[in-house]
Amino acid sequence: MDNHFECPICFEIPSAEIYQCTNGHTICSECSVNIKSCPECRVPYGNSKIRNRALEQILDKQTFPCVFKEKGCSELCKRQDVDKHGLNCYYNPDSKTAVRLCQKLGFDDCKFILRGSSRSEIIRHFQEDHSFPVENGSSVIIHYGDFKAVTDPMAAKDSNWPPTLLCWEFEGPLVLLLGKVDLSIGSALWNGVCVWEIEDFLRCFILEFSLQNHDNLTKPVDWKIPLLSLEEAEESLSLWTSSSVMCYDFTFICKKVFYE
Ligand SMILES: [Zn+2]
Ligand SMILES: [Zn+2]
Ligand SMILES: [Zn+2]
Ligand SMILES: [Zn+2]
Repeated sequence: MDNHFECPICFEIPSAEIYQCTNGHTICSECSVNIKSCPECRVPYGNSKIRNRALEQILDKQTFPCVFKEKGCSELCKRQDVDKHGLNCYYNPDSKTAVRLCQKLGFDDCKFILRGSSRSEIIRHFQEDHSFPVENGSSVIIHYGDFKAVTDPMAAKDSNWPPTLLCWEFEGPLVLLLGKVDLSIGSALWNGVCVWEIEDFLRCFILEFSLQNHDNLTKPVDWKIPLLSLEEAEESLSLWTSSSVMCYDFTFICKKVFYE
């Protein structure tokens, strides 16, 4: 972005009218209200402000990066929309509207922004800030304990398992495994959200689950679900819709995550 488009007082791209001194130095309309002489050459503005419509029209034809560009936002806005977007931008730590995965999981106060965070930052966040179990490797087996126990209505508080972070291979994708039991329909619900991925790798992965009875005599129930992208997970109304299965009395095993 060229610096001469920015207002010399507020350092922002003017969102409305643009004024100038007799030497042609520009200033945005909001800052021009409080200032009597040009901040660059000290020439007084006088009583009738000189508007620069040519520059307004040039800026109208352009788009400008979000103020949170450095944090990972790739949004380009018309000049009058930069502020409005910034207020609601996902990367704005104070945004009230950005839905974040941690908040969807019940951590209402967590402001951690997954999008744009590094692989190691994400591992550290889930491990240290939320105490989620972390599993490494290309083939992970996780025993979630007695399924019968968690389907017991008396144990309703256990109806959510702690999310588990799968660290797939060396520098590979990170998958957050989410699971809960819906006591009202007697169903186990699962999903895997790819919270960090190498570009375009998401569609190469599928989660394969296996439910096995304690006696090892019953045939295991196997099913596969596609991984959700972080965006899909944050924007969907429910994290559980695509992974429901009816089952009782089983021990849950996440058998593996594999390349398709
Ligand atoms: Zn200004
Ligand atoms: Zn000037
Ligand atoms: Zn943004
Ligand atoms: Zn969090």
